[in-house]
Amino acid sequence: MKLRVESVSYSYRKGVEALSNISFSIEQGTIYGIMGETGSGKSTLLKLLNGLYTPTKGKIFLDDREYSSITKSTLPFRVGLVFQYPESQLFEESVILDVAFGPKNKGRSKEEAIMDAEKALVTVGLKKDKWNKSPFNLSGGEKRRAALAGVIAMNPEVLVLDEIAAGLDKEGKDRIFSVLEKLKKEGKTIIFVSHSPDDVARYAERVLVLNKGKLKAEGEVREVFSSPSVPKTQSEVIASEMREKGIDIPSPILTLEELASEIVKVVDK
Ligand code: ADP
Ligand code: MG
Repeated sequence: MKLRVESVSYSYRKGVEALSNISFSIEQGTIYGIMGETGSGKSTLLKLLNGLYTPTKGKIFLDDREYSSITKSTLPFRVGLVFQYPESQLFEESVILDVAFGPKNKGRSKEEAIMDAEKALVTVGLKKDKWNKSPFNLSGGEKRRAALAGVIAMNPEVLVLDEIAAGLDKEGKDRIFSVLEKLKKEGKTIIFVSHSPDDVARYAERVLVLNKGKLKAEGEVREVFSSPSVPKTQSEVIASEMREKGIDIPSPILTLEELASEIVKVVDK
C-alpha cells in the first residue's frame, strides 16, 4: 500500500495557503517523520492524509486510488489519525470502551470491538488492571497509549500521529516509540509529526520538513539532516562544536549513541 501526495495545496481562507504544492510518497511499512515549526502546516497535512480535509489543489492516492474515489467514511479506518493532545478526546467510562469505540464505529459487533480493543491494549502495553478504569485515571503517557490503541484497534494500514510523544518524559516517549517500531514490523506505515529533530532523527527512516507551508526537504533521514537548512539534532550541535575545535567527527550525527561511538573512535586513535 503506497501513499502518494501529488502537488497538494490547502487553504483555510481564500488566498492564504496553509500548505503549498506538496509532493511526496511513502512506501508501506515505513516510519515517516514530518517536522517543522509551529504553524508550518504539519497538522493540516495529517488531516489531509486521513481524509478529514480535502486538498484545495492536487491529489492524494492510496495504492494508486485517488482519495476522492475511496468512500469517504472508510478512509479514516484505513489511514487512522491520532490527534494532537488525544487525551482530551478520551470520553468513555472505561479505557476498554474508549478503545472499542473506533472498531464499533467501523461496524464490528460489540464483542468483536471489545476483542479488537483488548488486542490493541496489549500492543500498546497497557496492563489489564487499567482496562476497566476511567481513562481519566491514567498517567499522561498511559492516556497517549490508550488513544493510540483506539486507532490501532481499527486496524488501519497507515497510522498518522500528531505530536504523540510531545510533553512526555523519556520513559513515556520510549514506550510510545517502541510501540511504533513494533507496528512497523507488522507492516504498518507510521507517519508521525514532531517538532523535535531528535525524535525524528532517531525514529524516522524518511523525513519531510515543512517551512511556512512549503516543502523544505524530503528524503532519507541522514540525507535530510545533512542539509544545512534543516534544524540540527542536539547531538549534531555538540558534534559541530567539536569539529570547530578540530576534532574529526563525521556529519550529520543523528543520536546520542552515534555521538558517543564517534567520540570513542577519536579517543581510540
Ligand atoms: P502546525 O501543525 O505545523 O503547527 P497547522 O497545520 O496547525 O500547523 O497550521 C498551519 C497554518 O494554518 C497556520 O498558519 C494556522 O494558523 C492555520 N490554521 C490551522 N488550522 C486552522 C483553522 N482551523 N482555521 C484557519 N486557519 C488554520
Ligand atoms: Mg500541529
